[in-house]
Amino acid sequence: MFFKDALIHPGFGKSLRANLLIDGEKITRIGKVQTPSDIPVYKDKVILPGYIDSHIHLLEYGLSLMFLDLRAVRSREEFSDLLSSYLPQARKLGFLYGFNLAPERLRELNWEPATSELDKVADDVPIFVRREDGHSVYLNTRARRWLLYDQPIAEADTPLVGRFNKLAVERMQERVPGEVRKDAFLKAGADLLQRGVSAAAVMIADDNSLDDVEIIRSIGDKLGIETVLFPQSRDVQKVCDMELTRLGGCILVDGAFGSRTAALREPYSDAPGNMGILYFSRREINALVKCVEEAGLQMTFHAIGDEAIGILIDAYEEFIEPGNPKRHRIEHAELLLPDLIERTAKLNLILGVQPAFQAIWGQEGGMYAARLGERRRWTNPFRSELDAGIRIAAGSDAPITTPDPAEGIKAFLNHPIAAERITSGEALKAYTYSGAYALHMEDRIGSIKEGLQADLLVFDDDPFTTLDFHPQAVIRRGKLVSGSI
Ligand SMILES: [Zn+2]
Ligand SMILES: [Zn+2]
Repeated sequence: MFFKDALIHPGFGKSLRANLLIDGEKITRIGKVQTPSDIPVYKDKVILPGYIDSHIHLLEYGLSLMFLDLRAVRSREEFSDLLSSYLPQARKLGFLYGFNLAPERLRELNWEPATSELDKVADDVPIFVRREDGHSVYLNTRARRWLLYDQPIAEADTPLVGRFNKLAVERMQERVPGEVRKDAFLKAGADLLQRGVSAAAVMIADDNSLDDVEIIRSIGDKLGIETVLFPQSRDVQKVCDMELTRLGGCILVDGAFGSRTAALREPYSDAPGNMGILYFSRREINALVKCVEEAGLQMTFHAIGDEAIGILIDAYEEFIEPGNPKRHRIEHAELLLPDLIERTAKLNLILGVQPAFQAIWGQEGGMYAARLGERRRWTNPFRSELDAGIRIAAGSDAPITTPDPAEGIKAFLNHPIAAERITSGEALKAYTYSGAYALHMEDRIGSIKEGLQADLLVFDDDPFTTLDFHPQAVIRRGKLVSGSI
């Protein structure tokens, strides 16, 4: 494949106009080269590197494609109707799994389904509905019994509304059969590829089981995209035994703002006295960070509230090698107050960020404002992070947000807090080069350079001008895999 006079945005540094030759799976030449006669030649195209989603729950995203997505639901009635219409399918599968319910966007503001309400939809099949933030779930009686059979879920914070936290989410996840999981991975991979994602940092498995690592390995190249695994297990020895070189992902130091489970230094603005939940004690997080560092693995953890981020940074300060050569990260880091920005920069930590969070929840008068009041000023402060010298790697946290990097880039450019907007070039870098860097893979993927894998996106019109980053065509390992040129 040969691109003549292409406008190339390499993922970092300056854009250039040049010829680009792909031979086999690699970019073999950029610059002066005779137009070959025996391969396809394309003229005047715009070329970007394939996107990297730096944080995705591939299994859950695939399941959300296969099961019921409630993202568009805007009223209590719509909710019940949609669930009811899905029942025949749910009965065949043995359970109903709904994703992305957002009570704060319903006409009946903040309405949450009670167990009895879900029982009215159906009492013969377990119903399990995840909130949009993925950090709590609503269960009908059948689902409560289904998940509770061995021991009670003690953490239900408001049993009357049928809402449960982390443990119930994990237990439901375990109930999904292996074949369904395999299908979910395949569906997710195919979906991502056509959005221009050629590689993804996959948050996978949990403390109870690392089986999904084997499942995804058994699928191999059939996934279509390159997957780099972050096993969410605290069993460092087992992770090493499985020849994984990273540990962590959404191992929860705290919860999320929507569920009021993110851990804060000061109480929630809309729930006096409530400061969220820490799922780790300081002693536990210190011990884990020390152990992972000694095992030589790269690590990252989910920390959203300022208190949780602070405790994680304390541990990193104490135990990781100066300069952070293993490229340890923090996932989300949503409420990053100035003192935390400074300490993150000093440690050279990488942030796995989700620009779409700010677009969904960070608008004036939105969920962040309700939960955090004036602290919203420091939610996802991307401009301040880059100015402090922090490297940010962008992801979707799908199924929490749509894994569409073009939407993520748009969210970066339209940050509701104008002072925190970043440029197109910086946004592209966060979705390409920095994503590769955050995985120790910048020598193979994530930018456009001679010798790198030919994972490329093709546009007719320059996205830096149109600000539309949805690719016309996707090339992966030198082959056209989606769209047309
Ligand atoms: Zn996550
Ligand atoms: Zn997370």
